[in-house]
Amino acid sequence: MPLHDSKQPPLPPAIKRLGHWFWLPAIVAALGVTSLLFKEVSQSIASLKFWGAFVVPAFFFVPQFIAILAVWLGNRRVKAKYIAAKGRLCTSCTYSLLGLPDQGHCPECAAPYDIIADAPGWERAQMPAIATPAGLVGMPVG
Ligand SMILES: [Zn+2]
Repeated sequence: MPLHDSKQPPLPPAIKRLGHWFWLPAIVAALGVTSLLFKEVSQSIASLKFWGAFVVPAFFFVPQFIAILAVWLGNRRVKAKYIAAKGRLCTSCTYSLLGLPDQGHCPECAAPYDIIADAPGWERAQMPAIATPAGLVGMPVG
């Protein structure tokens, strides 16, 4: 699936930002591969004998595990806020917009919001359907 599918509603920026965690394994892997070009590094890894076999895979898998864990925890945190705010969440900073009009500017980060227009993005981010006075938010549209 392409990142920018015009038929898909845009993901809320707060969810999109979690994807930055995947720079971590990419950067660590690039640094790891680069460091292997230095004779001292490859010799010291070889001198580790048995454990040396785990150094290179660890450079790939540990940062990936950390990134996946961070995205999972971040998504869980946003989902808890989303449920607590009954689907009325700033898409940019996840500030609760409970008690505020359906459209306006976030009092926390000043980003414009529109509860109804933002709903398909939250739905795409797989946030649970929530009934609000304005209607059912977070349900598939059409
Ligand atoms: Zn905000």
